[in-house]
Amino acid sequence: MNKNTDADTAVTAEPSATESRDFIREQIAGDLASGVHEGVVTRFPPEPNGYLHIGHAKSICLNFGVAQEFGGRCHLRFDDTNPVKEEQEYIDSIQEDVRWLGFDWGDNLFYASDNFETLYTWAEHLIETGNAYVDDLSADEIRAYRGTLTEPGRNSPYRDRTPDENMDLFRRMRAGEFDNGAKVLRAKIDMASGNINLRDPVIYRILHAAHPRTGETWCIYPTYDFAHGQTDAIEHITHSLCTLEFEDHRPLYDWLIEHLPVPSRPRQYEFARLNLTHTVLSKRRLMQLVSEKRVAGWDDPRMPTLSGLRRRGVPPGAIRDFVGRLGIAKTNSTVEMAYLESCMRELLNKTAARRMAVLRPLKVVIENYPEGDGELLEAVNNPEDESAGSRQIPFSREIYIEQEDFMEDPPKKFFRLAPGREVRLRYAYFITCTEVIKDEAGNVVELRATYDAETRGGDSPDGRKVKATLHWVSAAHAIPAEVRLYEHLFDAPDPGAGKDGDFLADINPNSLEVLNDCWLEPALGDTSLDETVQFERLGYFCPDPDGSAAKPVFNRTVGLRDNWARLQAKGQQNG
Ligand code: ATP
Ligand code: MG
Repeated sequence: MNKNTDADTAVTAEPSATESRDFIREQIAGDLASGVHEGVVTRFPPEPNGYLHIGHAKSICLNFGVAQEFGGRCHLRFDDTNPVKEEQEYIDSIQEDVRWLGFDWGDNLFYASDNFETLYTWAEHLIETGNAYVDDLSADEIRAYRGTLTEPGRNSPYRDRTPDENMDLFRRMRAGEFDNGAKVLRAKIDMASGNINLRDPVIYRILHAAHPRTGETWCIYPTYDFAHGQTDAIEHITHSLCTLEFEDHRPLYDWLIEHLPVPSRPRQYEFARLNLTHTVLSKRRLMQLVSEKRVAGWDDPRMPTLSGLRRRGVPPGAIRDFVGRLGIAKTNSTVEMAYLESCMRELLNKTAARRMAVLRPLKVVIENYPEGDGELLEAVNNPEDESAGSRQIPFSREIYIEQEDFMEDPPKKFFRLAPGREVRLRYAYFITCTEVIKDEAGNVVELRATYDAETRGGDSPDGRKVKATLHWVSAAHAIPAEVRLYEHLFDAPDPGAGKDGDFLADINPNSLEVLNDCWLEPALGDTSLDETVQFERLGYFCPDPDGSAAKPVFNRTVGLRDNWARLQAKGQQNG
């Protein structure tokens, strides 16, 4: 799919205007003012084991955002220390998504795996200095010896091996003499520490697995904890920003930096992760949705992945606005999906071209309009943006309107078309319904109408008023299309809550509705894959790569009705 450019996005995104100074920006500003650092260097460190989601967008906007604001740089670093789960496909998609979001790492693309040799040397350094040992306990035994939050751990019987013995065993681990899980290297810290992360954490494990970048070179791999901070130090990261669940790892992060001959001293700061209602933001769960085919793939428009949001037509600017407005805090909370949708609407309202499309067609034959005749009418492209200009739309004797815009026997508050009633066709004429044609089952299949030629353009010279303006397309000129309507992937705001975490039980069976008999005004045939337009009165839509020139497919990005405004009016609010 080739949708990685966006008209409103320069290579480097502008920071959101509403961004305020959060505690991280205060910290950085202070460090620069006091001379602790001369410049700021951050990194976005994804593990290439899945596609990026909107939660990652928060981290991307923060890391790249502060680097821009303080004149520093931000690295894209693949934290590729677990070859079992990593794939080139993810490495590629992550780069595409970060770029699409509007950020540029320049030459600063790094891989933790590029440092495997250095990390290995540093592991030997810990062994030499008596700060690491090879342990033969199994994973289960290590867990049992570790203790709990209330009980201290116990020393492994292998903890007092001499540095020489440890060095010999560690080198043999590297040489491939042992099976997966037979031995690990552990930092020798304190089995009685109140912080479980300091109870002799594993820093190297045996994994006989090929790595996407280092191939068969290694059969031992550093753990996240051992690789992350040291890689930060190698890259001279000044502020290592991560989510709150790593707060308890910080003492270990600092311990390793203190005990190793690293070239710089990064510091870790934690912020609250983004949670959203009606979706899941865990790669494990997203992976499950894909592998069990609950969705069409990582880029299914119902997915909260950046590739899914892109395919759904969400402009990257709306995602930047969204995360910028939420700000950076130290307490976790959950944000209403409706707020994200509101940000999409706000941006699209300013930028999206207006077009007409009929999703559930009802044919109307205008009997007093000359047969075989037709004309072009002028329609504005965007009432919010004069520079968008106007276009010509064909009108003729047979048109389609929306089925729901007609009622044979309308209730009091229904102001749209009904027998004998006059309405306006947008940019065209006033028409009056004169006859209702039904099939044998009694379904309305066609309407007959008359038009008033004096009302061309949609205004009546005698000041006559109508209560409704309908969108329409000319039957002879319209392009047939498929339109896919999306709802939340999960009915429940917090999928799996109260169901033992069985989030799949909350999947919305109606999250996708496919309409096969839609009609588009001709100008929509020229919509490019990265353009999102407004179908008047219906919502925002964008072309899907599944479509063809003969039969385009459009995805509904978001409807027009603002549920967020409604929720706020009801006194609910986002977290
Ligand atoms: P998961 O736990 O779902 O597998 P992850 O957090 O392990 O995802 P990484 O690839 O390690 O995924 O994430 C890269 C960066 O993005 C990390 O710094 C992580 O803290 C951050 N991040 C991940 N999820 C969120 C989120 N929901 N909100 C903010 N930042 C996030
Ligand atoms: Mg992670």
